[in-house]
Amino acid sequence: ATSYNYAEALQKSIYFYEAQRSGDLPANNRVEWRGDSGLQDGADVGHDLTGGWYDAGDHVKFGFPMAATATILAWSVYEYREGYEQSGQLEEILDNIRWATDYFMKAHTAPNELWGQIGNGTADHNWWGPAEVMPMQRPAYKIDTTHPGSDLAGETAAALASAAIIFRDSDPAYSEKLLRHAKELYNFADQYRGKYSDSITDAKQFYNSWSGYADELSWGAVWLYLATNDQTYLNKAIAASQLWGTNQQGDWDYKWTHAWDDKHYGAQLLLARITGDSKFVRSTERNMEFWTTGVSGTGERVAYTPGGLAHLDQWGALRYAANQAFLAFVYSDWVSDPAKKINARSFAEQQILYMLGDNPRNSSYVIGYGNNSPQHPHHRTSHGSWADSQNTPVNHRHILYGALVGGPSKDDTYTDSISDFVSNEVATDYNAGFTGALAKMMLLHGAGQQPVASFPAPETREDEMFVEASVNASGSNFVEIRALLNNRSGWPARASENMSFNYYVDLSEAIAAGYGPGDITVAAGGYNQGATVTPLKPYDVSKNIYYTTVDFSGTRIYPGGQSAYRKEVQFRIAAPLNTTFWNNANDFSYQGIASGGSSPIKAPNIPVFDAGVRVFGELP
Ligand code: BGC
Ligand code: CA
Repeated sequence: ATSYNYAEALQKSIYFYEAQRSGDLPANNRVEWRGDSGLQDGADVGHDLTGGWYDAGDHVKFGFPMAATATILAWSVYEYREGYEQSGQLEEILDNIRWATDYFMKAHTAPNELWGQIGNGTADHNWWGPAEVMPMQRPAYKIDTTHPGSDLAGETAAALASAAIIFRDSDPAYSEKLLRHAKELYNFADQYRGKYSDSITDAKQFYNSWSGYADELSWGAVWLYLATNDQTYLNKAIAASQLWGTNQQGDWDYKWTHAWDDKHYGAQLLLARITGDSKFVRSTERNMEFWTTGVSGTGERVAYTPGGLAHLDQWGALRYAANQAFLAFVYSDWVSDPAKKINARSFAEQQILYMLGDNPRNSSYVIGYGNNSPQHPHHRTSHGSWADSQNTPVNHRHILYGALVGGPSKDDTYTDSISDFVSNEVATDYNAGFTGALAKMMLLHGAGQQPVASFPAPETREDEMFVEASVNASGSNFVEIRALLNNRSGWPARASENMSFNYYVDLSEAIAAGYGPGDITVAAGGYNQGATVTPLKPYDVSKNIYYTTVDFSGTRIYPGGQSAYRKEVQFRIAAPLNTTFWNNANDFSYQGIASGGSSPIKAPNIPVFDAGVRVFGELP
């Protein structure tokens, strides 16, 4: 096995959550290519529902996996706080958990009302661009007493209760607030029972509640018990376990793992540890056996790739193995039987090492970490398309450090393709158990390791706003320019309704012939997608340099589609009819544009202004 820097892996894995932030970003935002976004979220229902995380490579805020993720992250701090501390990442993980819990409390607008999804899945998925310039409506969806969702409310209660524990020492007031919301939400979940995906039906095709809500009723109650020590919650957690899904032998399901849908895996592990009750202990063991040695008696076992990855499901294979690795670490730290302890721990280590690079491809599955890591994740904002297209640009403009991709196939093969959301998407839930497991790896193997200093390194920026130009026509007394004003901004992406550019001419020959700037006309015509042009204005009279401003004020230009990111204008600068002095050769802006008949090219001498500030090009 290679040796890995776990402090760096943790640092990057946490950074991924920062890259997923929606809303009004704070000043300490480390992601230079992210800006504010989703600022109207909730406006359709009269609430401020800004904040939270974009789910994956898309921009829906799916409350159910978001809460499941926050709970796992808080759980991991509860178990392995020292791992975060030793790697210098405690503040970062707490800050990123808080980003989610702040949002959940905002979304909890009344005791029995929780906004559980922002954005319509289909409308969101149909567009491929950066979050900062999303063009579609983002409706808000909720659960309430007539449209209940015990799974969603129960999981959100778990997230807030687990966070209440980890914030208790550093911020007691915040912790109390979290706990108050957690209790109310749990009560709502418990009193008004139903599946959230029957209420928020748009979630059905994305995050359907397959396992139902009994698991979240236990899960939320376990965390409330741990946060309060109130026996009532422990009783509720145990009572709800009677309703967990079973197989024909009456055993609770054991052939999956703790993930965004089914939480009985985490609940039974914590209940085993809290109560010592053999039914929770045995069910936990059965699940561990399924993932490792095979279930005793039946031999049933998860499929393994030849390279050693426990491969539960093709869609996001690594996230399941990572979640199980985290559970296995927690189990291993608790179980006293030495064989079971070692077995669970070595499983967890092996799975995490596979993800970091110990695999037949000798490649990392974590973006921007290790050897030969993925370059083309299915992730809109880091790709940074301006044309609403997965093919433009060919390479991602930004590095989405720390994101664990879906992962390889059953034979360890993998294709690094942007279009493949099954094997190459990233998601907040994918990194959850992974982050927790890394905190434990840090404690086991990371002594003395440091995160990367001055992380992240600044990206090399490309021109974001510029003009492409060519000569459209010319004659003895005029020139006509074809110009395309581009907004391909990506650091961060931003829309503008205040873009303009200047075109500079040298009138020496006109003046020599007895004419002046007043004799020269400027007109936009032919084809014009929103520009006005000014008459020639003096720039440097001593050198006879004058210019026109081609102004697209009021026209929204943004990196969000073929017709959105650039606007065309054809404009003509003309001397009086029958004159012949006109000469382009000495004109500053004429230098470097494409000649007649050629496609427009980037024009360095046609400076571009955004709200009056020069953002591209040179002045004469
Ligand atoms: C989206 C992905 C999503 C997939 C399945 C794609 O269009 O880009 O984010 O996982 O659909 O819903
Ligand atoms: Ca469930």
